[in-house]
Amino acid sequence: MTTYNIVVNKMKNKTKVCIFLAAVLAINIKFGSITYTMLYDAYKPYNGVTVVLDAGHGGKDLGCEYEGINESDLNIDMVNKIKKELETIGFIVLLTRSDEHDLASEGATNRKREDLNNRVDIINQEKVDIYISVHMNAYVTNEVKGSQLFYFSENEDSKQLANHIDESIKKVSESELKVKQGDSYYILNKPKKVGVLLECAFLSNASDREKMLSEEYREHLANEVVVGIVSYLNDKHYE
Ligand SMILES: [Zn+2]
Repeated sequence: MTTYNIVVNKMKNKTKVCIFLAAVLAINIKFGSITYTMLYDAYKPYNGVTVVLDAGHGGKDLGCEYEGINESDLNIDMVNKIKKELETIGFIVLLTRSDEHDLASEGATNRKREDLNNRVDIINQEKVDIYISVHMNAYVTNEVKGSQLFYFSENEDSKQLANHIDESIKKVSESELKVKQGDSYYILNKPKKVGVLLECAFLSNASDREKMLSEEYREHLANEVVVGIVSYLNDKHYE
């Protein structure tokens, strides 16, 4: 589905939701039992928009590891947090993996390639509108820190999505790193969808590591990813 179609469908959904909301209001006003939660549940503005959240690595590939913290586990934790937030406002969320395993079959000859191809297949499903591949970064110079967004340069929408998420996530991460092209990343150049790769923090940096160990910080980060996605969709809507 193109972004235009997402927006058109969203508008159709909004009309249906408005009718439903009016009915809910009418019934509940009559019985005097209307609550904020009921209103919120009746109006989920992003109903039907489908997002794939891809937790990087898995299986024997733990991604980067520092002082007993590994990237693979943190990626899973982050996608679960983002999923929860997205579902609250009506998004449909698909995960490429939801546990420690990778996506390759038993005895695969090229494990990494099969794993990545299976991720790409999930992302390329027709119903998928947007995908976010979630990772943690590492660098030889351990002063480097902060969140960073990557996109495939041949997809203008992906660049916009990266900019929106970057803008909101920086309110929490205070990163000074710029949004970058990531054309060499398989997970960005193979799928035919709007998507980004998010590096949440540098595990090679002590202060980033400490932040990522905080449940509260990870929740704030997840929340800002959702704000970024919503802001991108709203921008598309009014374009
Ligand atoms: Zn990674």
